Amino acid sequence: MLMYAEDDLLPISALQHLVFCERQCALIHLEGLWAENPLTVEGRHLHEKVDEQGPSESRGDIRIARSLPLRCLRLGLSGKADVVEFHKADADAPGIRLEGARGLWVAFPVEYKRGRPKRERCDEVQLCAQALCLEEMLKTTIPQGALFYGQTKRRLEVAFTPNLRNETEKTAARLHALIAGRITPKASRQPKCDNCSLIHACLPDNNAPEKSAASYLASVFAETHAGGPGPWPYLRPRSSLRATGASGSLGSAPRAAERDGQEGKSAA
Ligand code: SF4
Repeated sequence: MLMYAEDDLLPISALQHLVFCERQCALIHLEGLWAENPLTVEGRHLHEKVDEQGPSESRGDIRIARSLPLRCLRLGLSGKADVVEFHKADADAPGIRLEGARGLWVAFPVEYKRGRPKRERCDEVQLCAQALCLEEMLKTTIPQGALFYGQTKRRLEVAFTPNLRNETEKTAARLHALIAGRITPKASRQPKCDNCSLIHACLPDNNAPEKSAASYLASVFAETHAGGPGPWPYLRPRSSLRATGASGSLGSAPRAAERDGQEGKSAA
Protein backbone atom coordinates (compact mmCIF):
# COMPACT_ATOMS: atom_id res chain seq x y z
CA MET A 1 0.00 0.00 0.00
CA LEU A 2 1.30 3.48 -0.91
CA MET A 3 2.14 5.54 2.16
CA TYR A 4 2.90 9.24 1.86
CA ALA A 5 5.99 10.78 3.42
CA GLU A 6 5.59 13.42 6.13
CA ASP A 7 6.73 16.13 3.70
CA ASP A 8 3.97 15.24 1.25
CA LEU A 9 1.04 15.55 3.65
CA LEU A 10 -1.64 18.04 2.63
CA PRO A 11 -4.10 19.82 4.94
CA ILE A 12 -7.41 18.08 5.57
CA SER A 13 -9.10 21.46 5.21
CA ALA A 14 -8.12 21.48 1.52
CA LEU A 15 -10.56 18.62 0.94
CA GLN A 16 -13.54 20.80 1.68
CA HIS A 17 -12.14 23.55 -0.54
CA LEU A 18 -11.84 20.95 -3.32
CA VAL A 19 -15.36 19.62 -2.87
CA PHE A 20 -16.71 23.18 -2.78
CA CYS A 21 -14.79 24.37 -5.86
CA GLU A 22 -11.68 22.93 -7.48
CA ARG A 23 -10.56 26.37 -8.61
CA GLN A 24 -10.91 27.75 -5.09
CA CYS A 25 -8.78 24.91 -3.79
CA ALA A 26 -6.09 25.66 -6.38
CA LEU A 27 -6.18 29.41 -5.67
CA ILE A 28 -5.64 28.77 -1.96
CA HIS A 29 -3.28 25.81 -2.01
CA LEU A 30 -1.38 26.33 -5.27
CA GLU A 31 -1.40 30.09 -5.77
CA GLY A 32 -1.25 30.95 -2.08
CA LEU A 33 -4.27 33.27 -2.00
CA TRP A 34 -6.46 33.82 0.99
CA ALA A 35 -9.11 36.40 1.76
CA GLU A 36 -11.18 36.96 4.85
CA ASN A 37 -14.81 37.92 4.65
CA PRO A 38 -17.34 38.21 7.48
CA LEU A 39 -18.19 34.51 7.13
CA THR A 40 -14.59 33.32 7.44
CA VAL A 41 -14.01 35.62 10.42
CA GLU A 42 -17.12 34.26 12.14
CA GLY A 43 -15.95 30.70 11.49
CA ARG A 44 -12.54 31.44 12.95
CA HIS A 45 -14.09 32.92 16.10
CA LEU A 46 -16.22 29.80 16.53
CA HIS A 47 -13.11 27.61 16.48
CA GLU A 48 -11.33 29.91 18.89
CA LYS A 49 -14.25 29.58 21.31
CA VAL A 50 -13.96 25.79 21.12
CA ASP A 51 -10.20 26.00 21.80
CA GLU A 52 -10.80 28.23 24.83
CA GLN A 53 -12.59 25.39 26.60
CA GLY A 54 -9.27 23.66 27.26
CA PRO A 55 -7.52 20.58 25.83
CA SER A 56 -9.55 17.87 27.60
CA GLU A 57 -12.55 17.21 29.79
CA SER A 58 -14.68 14.38 31.20
CA ARG A 59 -18.47 14.42 31.18
CA GLY A 60 -19.94 11.24 32.61
CA ASP A 61 -19.23 8.43 30.18
CA ILE A 62 -17.70 10.78 27.62
CA ARG A 63 -14.06 11.89 27.49
CA ILE A 64 -13.39 14.98 25.36
CA ALA A 65 -10.15 15.97 23.61
CA ARG A 66 -9.83 19.31 21.79
CA SER A 67 -7.47 20.54 19.05
CA LEU A 68 -6.17 17.04 18.50
CA PRO A 69 -3.39 16.77 15.86
CA LEU A 70 -4.31 14.35 13.08
CA ARG A 71 -2.38 12.51 10.43
CA CYS A 72 -3.05 9.83 7.83
CA LEU A 73 -0.05 8.56 5.86
CA ARG A 74 -2.26 6.31 3.73
CA LEU A 75 -4.21 9.31 2.35
CA GLY A 76 -1.41 11.87 2.74
CA LEU A 77 -3.35 14.20 5.03
CA SER A 78 -2.77 16.03 8.27
CA GLY A 79 -4.57 18.64 10.32
CA LYS A 80 -6.31 19.17 13.60
CA ALA A 81 -9.68 18.04 14.98
CA ASP A 82 -11.86 20.59 16.80
CA VAL A 83 -13.16 17.98 19.22
CA VAL A 84 -12.84 14.22 19.54
CA GLU A 85 -15.23 12.65 22.00
CA PHE A 86 -14.56 9.17 23.33
CA HIS A 87 -17.76 7.29 24.17
CA LYS A 88 -17.83 4.25 26.42
CA ALA A 89 -17.99 1.25 24.12
CA ASP A 90 -20.77 -1.33 24.34
CA ALA A 91 -19.57 -4.75 25.38
CA ASP A 92 -19.40 -6.11 21.83
CA ALA A 93 -18.20 -2.90 20.08
CA PRO A 94 -14.60 -2.31 19.02
CA GLY A 95 -12.87 0.30 21.14
CA ILE A 96 -9.54 1.50 22.45
CA ARG A 97 -8.11 1.90 25.92
CA LEU A 98 -7.67 5.39 27.35
CA GLU A 99 -5.09 6.20 29.97
CA GLY A 100 -6.63 6.46 33.43
CA ALA A 101 -10.04 5.20 32.31
CA ARG A 102 -11.59 1.76 32.61
CA GLY A 103 -13.03 -0.20 29.72
CA LEU A 104 -13.01 0.44 26.00
CA TRP A 105 -13.85 3.69 24.25
CA VAL A 106 -15.02 4.62 20.76
CA ALA A 107 -13.72 7.81 19.12
CA PHE A 108 -16.37 10.22 17.81
CA PRO A 109 -15.02 13.32 15.97
CA VAL A 110 -17.08 16.53 16.16
CA GLU A 111 -16.44 19.40 13.77
CA TYR A 112 -17.80 22.90 14.41
CA LYS A 113 -19.16 24.90 11.51
CA ARG A 114 -20.27 28.49 11.50
CA GLY A 115 -23.26 28.24 9.17
CA ARG A 116 -25.80 25.57 8.32
CA PRO A 117 -25.68 22.25 6.42
CA LYS A 118 -24.58 22.75 2.81
CA ARG A 119 -25.63 21.30 -0.52
CA GLU A 120 -22.15 19.97 -1.23
CA ARG A 121 -20.81 17.19 0.98
CA CYS A 122 -17.67 19.19 1.84
CA ASP A 123 -18.26 19.10 5.60
CA GLU A 124 -19.03 15.38 5.62
CA VAL A 125 -15.90 14.62 3.59
CA GLN A 126 -13.75 16.71 5.92
CA LEU A 127 -15.19 14.99 8.99
CA CYS A 128 -14.75 11.55 7.43
CA ALA A 129 -11.11 12.41 6.64
CA GLN A 130 -10.63 13.19 10.33
CA ALA A 131 -12.13 9.81 11.21
CA LEU A 132 -9.83 8.04 8.73
CA CYS A 133 -6.85 9.80 10.33
CA LEU A 134 -7.98 8.71 13.79
CA GLU A 135 -8.54 5.15 12.61
CA GLU A 136 -4.98 4.96 11.30
CA MET A 137 -3.48 6.65 14.36
CA LEU A 138 -5.47 4.69 16.95
CA LYS A 139 -5.77 1.44 14.97
CA THR A 140 -9.49 1.31 15.51
CA THR A 141 -12.80 1.64 13.67
CA ILE A 142 -14.91 4.77 13.93
CA PRO A 143 -18.51 4.32 12.83
CA GLN A 144 -19.74 7.89 13.16
CA GLY A 145 -19.12 11.50 14.15
CA ALA A 146 -21.03 14.79 14.13
CA LEU A 147 -21.11 18.25 12.59
CA PHE A 148 -22.24 21.10 14.85
CA TYR A 149 -23.66 24.10 12.96
CA GLY A 150 -23.49 27.46 14.71
CA GLN A 151 -26.40 28.97 12.78
CA THR A 152 -28.89 26.21 13.54
CA LYS A 153 -27.21 25.27 16.84
CA ARG A 154 -27.87 21.65 15.90
CA ARG A 155 -25.61 18.67 15.93
CA LEU A 156 -25.92 16.49 12.85
CA GLU A 157 -24.70 12.92 13.20
CA VAL A 158 -22.72 11.58 10.24
CA ALA A 159 -22.29 7.85 9.62
CA PHE A 160 -18.99 6.94 7.99
CA THR A 161 -20.55 4.67 5.39
CA PRO A 162 -18.52 2.83 2.74
CA ASN A 163 -19.86 5.36 0.25
CA LEU A 164 -18.64 8.39 2.25
CA ARG A 165 -15.28 6.73 2.96
CA ASN A 166 -14.87 6.02 -0.75
CA GLU A 167 -15.74 9.62 -1.67
CA THR A 168 -13.28 10.93 0.92
CA GLU A 169 -10.46 8.71 -0.32
CA LYS A 170 -11.12 9.73 -3.93
CA THR A 171 -11.17 13.41 -2.92
CA ALA A 172 -7.81 13.01 -1.16
CA ALA A 173 -6.36 11.41 -4.32
CA ARG A 174 -7.78 14.27 -6.44
CA LEU A 175 -6.24 16.80 -4.07
CA HIS A 176 -2.79 15.25 -4.42
CA ALA A 177 -3.22 15.15 -8.22
CA LEU A 178 -4.26 18.83 -8.29
CA ILE A 179 -1.31 19.93 -6.18
CA ALA A 180 1.14 17.76 -8.15
CA GLY A 181 -0.27 19.01 -11.49
CA ARG A 182 0.12 22.66 -10.44
CA ILE A 183 -2.62 23.86 -12.81
CA THR A 184 -5.39 26.14 -11.58
CA PRO A 185 -8.69 25.27 -13.30
CA LYS A 186 -10.50 28.03 -15.15
CA ALA A 187 -13.34 29.85 -13.41
CA SER A 188 -16.96 29.21 -14.19
CA ARG A 189 -19.63 31.44 -12.65
CA GLN A 190 -21.97 29.54 -10.32
CA PRO A 191 -24.48 30.63 -7.66
CA LYS A 192 -22.08 29.55 -4.90
CA CYS A 193 -19.52 32.11 -6.14
CA ASP A 194 -21.49 34.79 -4.28
CA ASN A 195 -20.49 33.18 -0.97
CA CYS A 196 -16.84 32.75 -1.90
CA SER A 197 -14.45 35.26 -0.37
CA LEU A 198 -12.04 34.69 -3.27
CA ILE A 199 -14.56 35.97 -5.81
CA HIS A 200 -12.59 39.13 -6.52
CA ALA A 201 -9.32 37.29 -6.99
CA CYS A 202 -11.04 34.65 -9.04
CA LEU A 203 -12.87 37.11 -11.32
CA PRO A 204 -15.28 34.57 -12.77
CA ASP A 205 -16.96 37.13 -15.02
CA ASN A 206 -13.90 38.14 -16.99
CA ASN A 207 -11.36 35.46 -16.29
CA ALA A 208 -8.73 35.34 -19.00
CA PRO A 209 -7.64 31.74 -19.50
CA GLU A 210 -3.99 32.56 -19.96
CA LYS A 211 -3.85 34.87 -16.93
CA SER A 212 -3.55 33.36 -13.44
CA ALA A 213 -5.19 35.00 -10.45
CA ALA A 214 -1.74 35.52 -8.96
CA SER A 215 -0.50 37.47 -11.97
CA TYR A 216 -3.73 39.48 -12.03
CA LEU A 217 -3.27 40.34 -8.37
CA ALA A 218 0.35 41.27 -8.92
CA SER A 219 -0.74 43.84 -11.50
CA VAL A 220 -3.44 45.18 -9.15
CA PHE A 221 -1.00 45.50 -6.25
CA ALA A 222 1.41 47.30 -8.55
CA GLU A 223 -1.36 49.79 -9.38
CA THR A 224 -2.16 50.16 -5.67
CA HIS A 225 1.45 50.93 -4.83
CA ALA A 226 1.39 53.51 -7.61
CA GLY A 227 -1.32 55.40 -5.72
CA GLY A 228 -4.59 53.53 -6.30
CA PRO A 229 -6.79 52.57 -3.31
CA GLY A 230 -6.69 48.82 -3.97
CA PRO A 231 -10.01 47.03 -4.05
CA TRP A 232 -9.32 44.25 -1.51
CA PRO A 233 -7.68 45.53 1.62
CA TYR A 234 -8.22 42.20 3.38
CA LEU A 235 -6.53 40.13 0.71
CA ARG A 236 -3.04 38.94 1.46
CA PRO A 237 -0.74 36.51 -0.31
CA ARG A 238 0.25 33.33 1.45
CA SER A 239 3.18 31.00 1.12
CA SER A 240 2.60 27.32 0.38
CA LEU A 241 -0.08 25.64 2.42
CA ARG A 242 1.56 22.23 2.21
CA ALA A 243 1.26 20.63 5.60
CA THR A 244 4.50 19.91 7.36
CA GLY A 245 3.72 17.14 9.78
CA ALA A 246 1.37 15.52 12.20
CA SER A 247 0.79 18.76 13.98
CA GLY A 248 -0.81 20.12 10.85
CA SER A 249 1.28 23.26 11.06
CA LEU A 250 1.11 25.02 7.76
CA GLY A 251 4.02 27.35 7.55
CA SER A 252 2.87 30.92 7.43
CA ALA A 253 -0.71 30.07 6.57
CA PRO A 254 -3.27 32.09 8.49
CA ARG A 255 -5.15 30.19 11.15
CA ALA A 256 -8.43 30.61 9.32
CA ALA A 257 -7.41 28.51 6.33
CA GLU A 258 -5.24 26.15 8.32
CA ARG A 259 -7.99 24.97 10.56
CA ASP A 260 -9.97 22.02 9.35
CA GLY A 261 -13.09 23.81 10.36
CA GLN A 262 -12.62 26.51 7.79
CA GLU A 263 -15.78 26.51 5.75
CA GLY A 264 -15.67 25.84 2.06
CA LYS A 265 -18.67 27.99 1.43
CA SER A 266 -17.05 31.08 2.68
CA ALA A 267 -13.72 30.62 1.08
CA ALA A 268 -13.18 28.58 1.94
S1 SF4 B 1 -15.61 32.63 -7.21
FE1 SF4 B 1 -16.66 30.74 -7.86
S2 SF4 B 1 -15.32 29.78 -9.40
FE2 SF4 B 1 -14.11 31.34 -8.29
S3 SF4 B 1 -13.10 30.21 -6.66
FE3 SF4 B 1 -14.98 31.02 -5.77
S4 SF4 B 1 -16.52 29.43 -6.05
FE4 SF4 B 1 -14.78 28.92 -7.40
